[in-house]
Amino acid sequence: MDYLPLFYKVDGRRVLLVGGGQVALRKAKFLLRAHAKLKLVAVEMCSELEVLLKDEAHEVFLRPYQSSDINKVSLIIAATNDLELNQLIAEDADKLNIPVNVVDQPKLCSFIFPAVVDRSPLLVAVSSGGNSPVLARLLRSRLETFIPSGYGALAVFLGGFRDKVKNKINSFSARMRFWENVINGPAAELLLAGKAEQAESLVETMLKGFDKEAFLQGEVYLVGAGPGDPDLLTFRALRLMQQADVVLYDRLVSPEILNMTRQDAEKIHVGKQREKHTMEQGEISSLLVTLAKSGKRVLRLKGGDPFIFGRGGEEIEQLAVAKIPFQVVPGITAASGCSSYAGIPLTHRDYAQSVTFVTGHMKNNQCDLDWDNLVQVSQTVVIYMGLISLPFICEQLIKHGRASVTPIALIQQGTTPKQKIYVGTLESLPDIIQANDVQAPTLIIVGEVVALHEKLAWQ
Ligand code: SAH
Repeated sequence: MDYLPLFYKVDGRRVLLVGGGQVALRKAKFLLRAHAKLKLVAVEMCSELEVLLKDEAHEVFLRPYQSSDINKVSLIIAATNDLELNQLIAEDADKLNIPVNVVDQPKLCSFIFPAVVDRSPLLVAVSSGGNSPVLARLLRSRLETFIPSGYGALAVFLGGFRDKVKNKINSFSARMRFWENVINGPAAELLLAGKAEQAESLVETMLKGFDKEAFLQGEVYLVGAGPGDPDLLTFRALRLMQQADVVLYDRLVSPEILNMTRQDAEKIHVGKQREKHTMEQGEISSLLVTLAKSGKRVLRLKGGDPFIFGRGGEEIEQLAVAKIPFQVVPGITAASGCSSYAGIPLTHRDYAQSVTFVTGHMKNNQCDLDWDNLVQVSQTVVIYMGLISLPFICEQLIKHGRASVTPIALIQQGTTPKQKIYVGTLESLPDIIQANDVQAPTLIIVGEVVALHEKLAWQ
């Protein structure tokens, strides 16, 4: 983050605004919404500002800025069109460590104004870090459309119960779940429908009948995070990602996706990299059970689809035995993601009537695959975990009868900005790969459909 987002209380505090034109007017209106006391310094000011600052809580000085103006103010906004003066104000502010904003000169600012969705007391602030205020404003207008106007009143309503709930429910996680039930349930709906009294008595009833044990029932979400591009997550994956208290994730889950989990959730990296398992499979399964038993909502986040070379089945087997509730959310598997982003259809009326997914993982320098089956023509073969075994696989396919000129592609870090595709034949690809600095993860696709890449590549 380039800036620390926070909400600053200016109610009753003195804020210095230098400048008296339209830009200053806009800033003055914004500051007054947060009840600031303004000190305006300007050689002249527009008539609207005059009206706006009539109240004696504000001070107006119609003269040039002087450095002593910044004494005893808690925030400074320079809204003049004199670049030298703006620079001077910024320097003065820095000397006394007072936050300063110079309109349209991000380099001189120690803070910037976000675009705001205002459902006071609920506020959503959007910032582009000064790079594109227009982008921030466009995003704000999208947010406006899906934050109900009654959410301000809802925030006040919930605030009224805060102490009561805190006194009754000691455990932080139980309290959080209580609130989630209120917000996602009929109590909030009643309030939004204008039935405040009914909403209030419903929350009272919920609080009275609160049963900690029932609230602290843990569960596990086994979720597929897709091949890398965060846009390929499913809605359900995202919802559960934002709900879970603990996240267990693998190396294949991209940082962008991990960032979309709940901010305050505990995040545990459980591996796995070839020969560098951070945690053994058995340990992961036991940890899932232990965490869920302690009442946590646990997210087991896996690359691609959890049921495709993901050992997801093994992990939930233990949960089933321990009678822990769980759900499985499919993800886009690497084969689908990489083939789409590489412009290689896995099946095609003219070239491939079936597709087979296999693992190229080696055991004792061998990968034991049903070669006779894999060499059938009109079939696409997708190989997961095949980078190391690529020369061996190509050799075996040729040996068992697939033409040495069969097209084959290796896709590195598919669907991410680092996606790279190497295309060759069963004969040539191993040398191509050897000559390049290829980064994991990689997926291999064998079959005539690979030739379509040239025509269909769209990335
Ligand atoms: N459950 C995952 C697969 C896990 S096995 C899924 O459904 O996709 C790990 C292998 O998946 C890697 O060795 C690689 O072959 C493949 N893989 C996963 N993500 C990939 C990506 N973004 N690009 C290329 N291959 C990927």
